[in-house]
Amino acid sequence: MSAQDVVANLRELAKLTSNADGAQRLAWGPVWREARQWFNGKLAALGITPEIDAAGNSWATLKGSSDRTVIIGSHLDSVPNGGWLDGALGVMAGLEALTTFRDRRPPVTLKVVDWADEEGARFGRSLLGSSAAAGSLQSADVEHLVDKTGVRLVDALRENGVELSTMSKAQEYLKRIDAKAYLELHIEQGPVLESMNRSTGVVQGTFGVERHLLRFVGQAAHSGSTPIPMRKDAFLAAAESALAFREIARKYTTGSARVVCTVGTVKVEPGIVTAVPGVCEISLDQRALDAHVLEAMLADARAASWTIAAGNNVSVEWKRIWQIEPRPFAPHLIKVCHEAVSEVTGEAPHLPSGPLHDAAEMVPHMPVVMMFAYSSNGLSHCKEEDTPEPHLLKTLAAFQLLVEKVVAS
Ligand SMILES: [Zn+2]
Repeated sequence: MSAQDVVANLRELAKLTSNADGAQRLAWGPVWREARQWFNGKLAALGITPEIDAAGNSWATLKGSSDRTVIIGSHLDSVPNGGWLDGALGVMAGLEALTTFRDRRPPVTLKVVDWADEEGARFGRSLLGSSAAAGSLQSADVEHLVDKTGVRLVDALRENGVELSTMSKAQEYLKRIDAKAYLELHIEQGPVLESMNRSTGVVQGTFGVERHLLRFVGQAAHSGSTPIPMRKDAFLAAAESALAFREIARKYTTGSARVVCTVGTVKVEPGIVTAVPGVCEISLDQRALDAHVLEAMLADARAASWTIAAGNNVSVEWKRIWQIEPRPFAPHLIKVCHEAVSEVTGEAPHLPSGPLHDAAEMVPHMPVVMMFAYSSNGLSHCKEEDTPEPHLLKTLAAFQLLVEKVVAS
């Protein structure tokens, strides 16, 4: 099987499961099931019947000379109106590896896993299948989930032979595997490789996230009658803070250690053109690969907001919305990935992953590395998502070389 065949498979899957608006492989639905059936047909041609674990993850196994196992994973599900590569690229690259090794019994066992419901696009919980297998899913957190049409997650799961109450048994399947490595190929979904004109990147890990709501409280007042020095303008304090957060992101970005701070929402009260804003609420989303850096960024942001609030005669309160720790990948696998990418493409840029991936769930359980493919215009989760074919073919070659190296190591 050549990289060209992988691309042909991807196009075949896209044709089967897309409409004019893009891919429609929404997890637990009929098109997703059709995608899996199609993939099972490809596996059947290799003489492989996949096993489904208690969370609906599909595992295809090629027995090797030992039980040590290299896992290649990604997901066939997509967001509504999604792209042709997000998830599918990694699964098809896994199929290529199974095909390559079928005729020469590998020294280790190979498994390709198609994680169930990576996107969380229907019920709002991403990484559902992989987190169940990893033991980080609390069923109490998801049992109440309902989709837009009123279907309950428990019923959608049951329709696919999965019981929410026993989903965590997927851990037992994962624990039985003597895992040597977990490898995942994914489209970057961002503009970094494109900006460097590089086909392929080595992923250092997934970002940790600190997400907060900041509420600045001053005093609403008439815009005509209140002199500037006497104002308690909550919006200006929030705006100054947002600029300070950008400086914090700049301060902690060193070389390839990129970090981000984003103010994504702003709510102003009373929201009248003739009133000084008395209340302003903004969100702050901070991400970094290094836990200490993330902690320092958060401390700096808090301190900056307090100083700025005092300078504007307003108060500020912080509320945490969400947090996840960084998941750095295994240094020895990053090194092998670097070698594979350099050998094929001549250079191997390293970059962190802003989005989360199933790979992040595997980090506590086994050595993990990911490889990224060039993403046109940084677009993903839309029908425009693309990796131009020359970049795609190079990336597929680099990924197969990574698999070869890890299997042989
Ligand atoms: Zn994905």
